[in-house]
Amino acid sequence: MRRISIFGATGSIGVNTVDLITRQGGSDAYDVVALTGGRNVARLAQQARDLRADMAVTCFPECYTALKEALAGSGIAAAAGPDAVAEAADRPADWTMSAIVGAAGLVPGLRALRHGGTLALANKESLVTAGPLLMQTARDHGARILPVDSEHSAIFQTLVGEDPAAVERIIITASGGAFRDWPLDRLATATPAQAATHPNWDMGQRITIDSASMFNKALEVIEVQEYFGVDPTQIQVLVHPESLVHAMVGFRDGAIMAHLGAADMRHAIGYALNWPDRANLPVERLDFARIGQLNFRDPDPARYPALVLARQVMATRGLAGAVFNAAKEAALDAFIDGRIGFLAMAEVVGAVLDRVSHETSLTNAVISLDNVMQADQLARDCAAQIIKKSKQY
Ligand code: NDP
Ligand code: MG
Repeated sequence: MRRISIFGATGSIGVNTVDLITRQGGSDAYDVVALTGGRNVARLAQQARDLRADMAVTCFPECYTALKEALAGSGIAAAAGPDAVAEAADRPADWTMSAIVGAAGLVPGLRALRHGGTLALANKESLVTAGPLLMQTARDHGARILPVDSEHSAIFQTLVGEDPAAVERIIITASGGAFRDWPLDRLATATPAQAATHPNWDMGQRITIDSASMFNKALEVIEVQEYFGVDPTQIQVLVHPESLVHAMVGFRDGAIMAHLGAADMRHAIGYALNWPDRANLPVERLDFARIGQLNFRDPDPARYPALVLARQVMATRGLAGAVFNAAKEAALDAFIDGRIGFLAMAEVVGAVLDRVSHETSLTNAVISLDNVMQADQLARDCAAQIIKKSKQY
C-alpha cells in the first residue's frame, strides 16, 4: 500500500486532499503515516481516526493536550510543535502533500524529500523562499516534486510529452481578486473581511487576501521561474475573470496549449495524487455553450503593485525570494490585525526589499536553509520596524 502523509491536513488544500483520498478507498487503499494541522485539533483528530493514521501532529504546543484527548483510545500517536511537525516528515512516506501555509512549510517539505518519494507541493512559499535548495534536494534524493498550485499543475500538464526547449512563453491567469472592479481610490479603505472573499475559488483566508492584492500571483510567477527554470521575460500574467483557463504555454512554432477546468483544487490535487495516471475526479465538467465567452486583459500595475515587486525579486534572485515572502507574511499579518491598510502591504514589502538588499548581499548568497532562515528573520524584523513607524499608511 502507498504510504502517504499530509502536512496542513486541516486547511483548505488538506481537506480537499483528505476528501480525494477517502473517495479513493481511504485506509483500505492507503497507509496513512502522518497528518499535521494547527489549531483545528478536532478536525485533525477526526481525519486521523477516519484515515487510521499512525500519528497526528499540531504545530502549536499549547494544542497538545486537546489533541491527545481527542485521540484517546484510538492508538494514534499525538505530538505538538514545529519540531514534531518536521519529525513527522522524517517518517518515510511515498507521497507527501505539502499544504502548510507560509514559510513554515519549507522544512517539512525538505525533510520529506529525503525519502525519495513524491512531494505534492501546494506550499508555494517553499519554492519562492528556497527554490534552488528544494529542487536540488529533490535531485539529490531521487525525489519528485509535483506542483499542486492550479496554474503550475496546468503548466506541468500542458508540458507532458513536450520538449522544454521549445517553450517560448508561459502565461498564468489571475481572477483579479475581490477588488478587481473597485475604483482605485477605494482600495485604501478595503477591510480584511472584504479582501477575504474570492470571486471564483474557495481557499484559505491568507491566500484569498493575497489574491485580492495579487501577492498570490506575485508568488506564483516566482514559482514558475523556480519550478520550470524559464527566464522572467517568458512569464506573463493575464487577468481572466472566469478562472477557467489556468495557464497557457506558447511554443516556438506558435502553438499555444491551454489548460482549462473548473475552479476546484481537487483537480490539481487529484492529478498529483494519481500521476502519471488520470483518475475519475469529482470536479464539475465545463459546459462551453453555457459559459459562452472567456475574457482576458493585462493587469494594471497601479492596481497590483505586488506584480511589479515580483519582477524585482526575479531579477535579483538569490535570497530576494525569502525576503519578499517573509515581508509579505508580516505585512499580511499586520493588515489582518488592522495595523496597516490594504495598500500599505505592497509599500511595506517594497521598503523591506530595498532596505534589506542594501544591508546584505541578497544576490550572491548560497541558498542554504540557514541563509534562507536568516534572510526570513531579517525581513520580518525590518517589516515590523517599518509597520510600527507607519502611521502615515
Ligand atoms: P489554510 O490556511 O486553509 O490551511 C493551512 C494549514 O496549515 C492548516 O492545516 C493549518 O492548521 C496549518 N498551519 C497554519 N499555520 C501553521 C504553521 N505555522 N505551521 C504548521 N502548520 C500550520 O491554507 P490553504 O489550504 O489555503 O493553503 C495551503 C498552502 O497551499 C499555501 O501555501 C497556499 O498558498 C497553497 N495553495 C492553496 C490553494 C487553495 O486553494 N487553498 C491553491 C493553491 C495553493 P489549522 O488550520 O488547523 O490551524
Ligand atoms: Mg494558484
